[in-house]
Amino acid sequence: MIPILDLREQYHELKSEITRAVEEVFEGGHFINGPNVHALEKEIAQYIGTEYAVGLNSGTDALHLALRALDVGPGDEVITTPFTFVATTEAIGIVGATPVFVDIDPSTFNIDPSLIEAAITERTKVILPVHLYGHPAPMREIMAIAKKHNIAVVEDCAQSIGSTIDGKKTGSIGDVGCFSFFPSKNLGAYGDGGMVTTNRKDLADRMRGLRAHGGRVKYHHEELGVNSRLDEVQAAILRVKLPHLDRWIERRRANAQWYSDHLRAFATVPGETEGTLHVYHQYTIRVRDRDRVQEQLKDAGVQTMVYYPVPLHLQEVHASLGLGEGAFPHSEQAAREVLSLPMFPELSAQQREAVRNALREALAAQAVA
Ligand SMILES: *Cc1c(COP(=O)(O)O)cnc(C)c1O
Repeated sequence: MIPILDLREQYHELKSEITRAVEEVFEGGHFINGPNVHALEKEIAQYIGTEYAVGLNSGTDALHLALRALDVGPGDEVITTPFTFVATTEAIGIVGATPVFVDIDPSTFNIDPSLIEAAITERTKVILPVHLYGHPAPMREIMAIAKKHNIAVVEDCAQSIGSTIDGKKTGSIGDVGCFSFFPSKNLGAYGDGGMVTTNRKDLADRMRGLRAHGGRVKYHHEELGVNSRLDEVQAAILRVKLPHLDRWIERRRANAQWYSDHLRAFATVPGETEGTLHVYHQYTIRVRDRDRVQEQLKDAGVQTMVYYPVPLHLQEVHASLGLGEGAFPHSEQAAREVLSLPMFPELSAQQREAVRNALREALAAQAVA
């Protein structure tokens, strides 16, 4: 089976360094907010190009605490896309606010900026674009709208670390960038982890307090916080991996280029908007009769995934919004058609070719059927 993601080769390449880093943490005996967390925060801030970075226990909490720091709460609205992972709207719901969905641009799978202004009300507090699959959302347009209406912008960068738009890294453009180090992400830990980036000292300080029970001084609590810290072992592992990230992104992009060159003749391949650098967290094509094609690829030994089969406005968790089928047609069509192919830096030429051959056969069978 060609897996959609294989983390073993990366581990074997870095095994001795990772083992040493983890052993040093064990020997040091400092497991929470220790020297590796502080160093990683500095290194990520420098890599993304922001003044501050704050380590957290997940990408979900990065979104959650970014909204808390911006004082988003009950009665407030947050504009976002329905074609994303549920964590995006989970964070909105956890702070008591309401997600307001705007459909996607079918050519990029990201929020369509031309539809945002019509969704703004006096309750709109935040626009929350998701850089889906690692392709930057249209930040130039989004920032112009946000500025005009005096609304904050929180970027969901869980899939996009290292991607750029107009020369700037995602996560450095809005008020807060939210990152995930879930193991399958482009910079993955060996467990959960997350981080926020920002140029605003007030927000960085607030999120530092919120992650540790709502207080910056131990046993002094200003507000209700949570326990959401990045742990020292994960930070030590991420510090070994970070220097390799750009090289891994280059390899993902080379694999994506090969796929696009060799699949374009018979499949709808992903595009890359001018001025953006896509980091291909996922390489996602569109196919009709997707579920059958996926079955056939599986039989041919190629694992694929569907991110995501049900858009969020049709999920039971958001039934109270009263949105039905047809509300966001481009998101609904994408949910029916998307198929993500095996993609990771170490994907071999033979594996890529096997994927291409299997896909060509599955689609030829479809043409005959
Ligand atoms: C993975 C992901 C998250 C959540 O990150 P966790 O670290 O798993 O909590 C949020 N948004 C998107 C788009 C994601 O892909």
